[in-house]
Amino acid sequence: MKKTLAQLAAWLKIREQDNEDTVVTGISIDTRTLKTGDLFVPFRGEAVNGHRFVEQAFEKGAAASLWLKDEPNPPQDRPLIFVEDAEAALQQMAIAYRSEHKATFIGITGSNGKTSTKDILAGTLSPYFKVQKTIGNFNNQLGLPITILQLDEDTEVSVLEMGMSGFGEIELLTRIARPHLAIITNIGEAHMQELGSREGIAQAKYEITKGLLEEGFLFYDGDEPLLRQLVTEDPYTETMSFGFGKENTLMVSQIETIESGSRFTVKGLIEGTFDISVLGEHQVKNTLSAMLVSKALGLTDDQIRTSLKQVALTDMRMQLVPVENGPLFINDAYNAAPTSMRAAIQFIKSTTMRSKKWLVLGDMLELGMDEKAFHEQLAEEIDDSVERVCLYGPRMKWLYERLLLVFDASRLVYTETDYEPIIEAIRRDADEETLILLKGSRGMKLETIVNTFK
Ligand code: ATP
Ligand code: MG
Repeated sequence: MKKTLAQLAAWLKIREQDNEDTVVTGISIDTRTLKTGDLFVPFRGEAVNGHRFVEQAFEKGAAASLWLKDEPNPPQDRPLIFVEDAEAALQQMAIAYRSEHKATFIGITGSNGKTSTKDILAGTLSPYFKVQKTIGNFNNQLGLPITILQLDEDTEVSVLEMGMSGFGEIELLTRIARPHLAIITNIGEAHMQELGSREGIAQAKYEITKGLLEEGFLFYDGDEPLLRQLVTEDPYTETMSFGFGKENTLMVSQIETIESGSRFTVKGLIEGTFDISVLGEHQVKNTLSAMLVSKALGLTDDQIRTSLKQVALTDMRMQLVPVENGPLFINDAYNAAPTSMRAAIQFIKSTTMRSKKWLVLGDMLELGMDEKAFHEQLAEEIDDSVERVCLYGPRMKWLYERLLLVFDASRLVYTETDYEPIIEAIRRDADEETLILLKGSRGMKLETIVNTFK
């Protein structure tokens, strides 16, 4: 980005602006990561007033800063833009920059798999286009505008993750991003508390179509009846679906675990066999949406096949961690919700990578009133093909009590706050034949367990 304060003021509909010729080349809300030439955006929160850091921002090379109109004592000798509301200003600038940018914009939402899909898609496209994707989990009403404002002018494809915790949030994000293409990865149970039901969750995700360009396409999980229903009721949006069912635009059959990841066969808009270094049916489904988008952007099936092979996922998403002369961990400790938990357990049960299967599961957080039932229901997924189940956290006690009804206590480990009993069980009883799935909500930090074996 290269904009003068005069241009930014025009975006913000400000009539009089000092230092009109000052040039801004980026945006920052954090002086620790601020780069020379950035526009600094201070936020006034309950605990911290960002205006305290404005001077520091200039010392670190900021070209200019926003300043809230009702904040006293603005520095006299620094280029400032006065605004009513920093968040709204950030969003307004993102809308303006987006509307003059030539890139193809892709928005990704869904209950699970947004970051995975973003990484797979960006990885697939990057040999052929200049791609910029959301960094980390910068997917909300601040993160998304910042991601857009950080786009280089010559970027060809912008891959944007869109997260939410209530109604109206995806609508806001999609109206800023105006995507050409949108993906809904799946519908799960996260944010049940705010949205009331799975129908509510589906509707909240479907808001992504409100900002979709008229000639745009929505790609969605066609195995989810709630999404099919919404698509049927919506005469305005062009769609394509992906999944296991025959009615999908892109249908997957036969997923096989190979040494480097998964091999799968697709039918429909793309046909043939493809390899990707991710594990689990759900990650293969995320790959399907990335393939449809790649095709929509003009890649040939062979180009897609070649680049899928070299895609790598961010840490802690079904990441294989071998221990020398010991077990093989699948570290999926980045996060957990019922859908992704079931998907991961299903994968462990069906894979032939190792003969002995262990589960190390931590609490699933933020599930609302039904959290007890969600934990208990996992018992239905666990059968005799699982040798050992280790549970960590106060909520996992519910699952533990269920499992005690069917399994011998010697196959179960339960610990509320201390990882040690689980680490001990692994040291004692797991060997080269053992595959261990580690999965729990971010707050449970289950990676601590695998890290002791590195
Ligand atoms: P967040 O809301 O935290 O940003 P996200 O939607 O970005 O999550 P990921 O970080 O990609 O999701 O994955 C989170 C977890 O969900 C991982 O454990 C992953 O294995 C699982 N997962 C990924 N894709 C799917 C899917 N399509 N269906 C079910 N589970 C999935
Ligand atoms: Mg994410």
